[in-house]
Parts: sequence; structure tokens; C-alpha cells
Amino acid sequence: MAISKTKRREEIESAPQAPQPIRGDRGASILGPRNAPLERENPDLLASPDTDSGTIPNLKFSFATARNRLLSGGWAREVTVRELPVATTLAGVNMRLKPGAIREMHWHKEAEWAYMLAGTARITAIDPQGRNFIDDINVGDLWNFPAGIPHSIQGLEKGCEFLLVFDNGSFSENETFLITDWFAHTPREVLAKNFGVSEAAFDNLPQDIEHTRYIFSGKVPGPLVPVNSPAGPISTSYSHRLSAQEPIKVGGGQVRIVDSSNFPAATTIAAALVELEPGAMREMHWHPNIDEWQYYISGQARMTVFASGGKARTFNYQAGDVGYIPFAMGHYIENVGDQPVQFLEMFRSSYFADLSLNQWMALTPPELVRAHLNLDAKTMTALRKDKPIIAPFRAIKGELKRPA
Ligand code: MN
Ligand code: MN
Repeated sequence: MAISKTKRREEIESAPQAPQPIRGDRGASILGPRNAPLERENPDLLASPDTDSGTIPNLKFSFATARNRLLSGGWAREVTVRELPVATTLAGVNMRLKPGAIREMHWHKEAEWAYMLAGTARITAIDPQGRNFIDDINVGDLWNFPAGIPHSIQGLEKGCEFLLVFDNGSFSENETFLITDWFAHTPREVLAKNFGVSEAAFDNLPQDIEHTRYIFSGKVPGPLVPVNSPAGPISTSYSHRLSAQEPIKVGGGQVRIVDSSNFPAATTIAAALVELEPGAMREMHWHPNIDEWQYYISGQARMTVFASGGKARTFNYQAGDVGYIPFAMGHYIENVGDQPVQFLEMFRSSYFADLSLNQWMALTPPELVRAHLNLDAKTMTALRKDKPIIAPFRAIKGELKRPA
């Protein structure tokens, strides 16, 4: 049934939660088609701050709008350069394994860094020296498999869900080297020759449509039993207990930084797990080494990216979203909700590094700084020679308040 244009407009404009692209005396209500839930999630795109300006590539993609591949053992969805074209350095996969389910034995060209979001898993790997690694992973733990290292992941009693980060934006979870795929594409006589057994030994290989397992259901394994290797276990651990790592505590939140200096296996991926209290802000900063890839774990965040040449743009993020910051661009992330914001800053780098706008100004001759910005003496005194990392204050109509 057709609804009159006037009636439809009235309905939309009177809807209590339909946001409008109006800021002060700028903008006007939406009359045409709209996707109000999406606009509600992105209020700073719908009505961008007056300081935003110019053309900047999209810096947000949500796992919620990524294609999910469902299998007997769980699911996997990915945000790569195909979903978020600016994100060339790193790619992310969000994976779920049911209790006992197995992410098939495989390897790939990229290094794999992982953060356990929920539940527990058992991981296995071997290195070129024939040393092996088997470990159980809990919430807040990491693993890192260097490029080409074969590995597996299996959900334990409660199953699990985790984030995988790969050191190439072009990675695809659908193009990994699977043990069943290789068996399916090798003649039986070659398999017999390779393993020194009869061809009949391979009569029961998987007969699924694709002849591969990828993510398949299995039995929850018992307690971890080491498989003894003549070469011994891997000396550089492929796992790291990030939640057990002492955080850098600052006013307004805390940060755990993990890179090759404290997790030697992670030679190509560095990370910071940032927690912001309501009202607090990851301070104005940038990174001197490479782009930043982000994953939002909880809360409501807003990030503005300064791209030089008069360009700046603001994006909103929530749990399950991926953010991105091209190399060297200035940025800050505000907690705009009433719950803590937790997110990962990730870098294709052996080390974490950032530059603080505040600290830069504090460690430069004050007359020089004042010549640029005409700041008063009180503001100059407030500059921090240490790195603030997080700005704890909530700005309310020009006044500052430290959140309770
Ligand atoms: Mn893998
Ligand atoms: Mn950053």
C-alpha cells in the first residue's frame, strides 16, 4: 500500500530515535530513503563535526557486514583489503570453533597473530628444525605463528572465538594450504611412495564436496599430552599471556603493549591493547613506522583522523568493527559511551612506536611552540614531558571534568 510522501516524511521526522543530519544551523532533515539503524551507529558521519574536511578514504568496516562462512565446526568471517581497500598492511579474521571443533592442519604465506576473545583452544605447530609446540590458550592470550609454519587450532570444553590478524591485507582465510587439500590433489601411488605404505591406506580420505575439512566438528581432547620430538620443543614460545602482562596504568585507562621485545615470536606484528574509561581519550598521536589496523572489542568509540592538507574525518566504532589509519596520519580515539572501550591497535612491524603531540610540544623550546599557537602560560605549563598515552578528561561545553 502506497504511503503519501508527506505522511512518510512526518513518520520519519517524528521517529524518536531517527537521527537527522543537523548540527546547529547547518544541515536539514532527510526526506528520501534512509537506513536509520546504520545512521544511528555513525552519527559523526551523518552530521560530521565542523572541523572535518576534505576527501579521505573509508576507514571503517564491520565484521557484521562481512560474509560469514558456516561449517560443521563453527564459522569464519574476514575483513581484508577486499572489504576495506585502504587496509593493505594487515587482514583480520574472526573465527568461532564449537567444543572439540578443529581448524584443519594448515599453513599460509603470512604470519598469523591471534587474540582469544572467548573460551579456550589447543594450538599445535612445528618449526623447520623439527621442534614442536602444543599449548592451551585462554581468554586474553595471544599466539603468533610465523609465515609458513604449519599449525592447527581446536576448541576445548566450551569452544572458543578469536581474532586472527595476518601481516598482509590481501590474505584470505579461504586460500590457506590445507592438509586434506594436498592429499586430495596427490595421486594415491605418490602418497603410497611418500609414506611407505600401500595405496589402500588412503581409501578413507575425506569425500566431502571440496575434499577438505577447513573447520569441522570433533571430540573435545583430553588434557594436553606432549608429543616428544627428538629435536625438543620450540624454544621461542608461539603463545603469550597478554592478560597476565602488567599494564601501563595511566589516568583514564590502561595499555598493554606487545611486540617482538616481550613476545619474540611476533617478529612482524606489534599490538597495543587499549582500555579507555568513559569520557577518556587515546591522546592525539601518530605512528612513525607504519599504518594502524584496529579491532574494537567493547564500548562506543569515535576516532578522528587528520590526513594533512586540511583533511580530517571522524568515524564511529563499536564492538566487532575494524578501523584503519594510513601511515603517519594524526589521530585520537574518544570513549563516547558510558562503558569502557577496549580495542587493539595493530601494526605490521617488529616494534610498537607512537609520537605524542603533547610530549612533542613539551620537549620543544616553549618560545618556539608559542610562536605557532599563541598558547597562554597556563596551557604551556600543562604540557607533559612524559607521554600521557590517554587523556583522562571529559570536555563539557569548554570546561574540563575528570570522569567519576
Ligand atoms: Mn592459520
Ligand atoms: Mn594510534
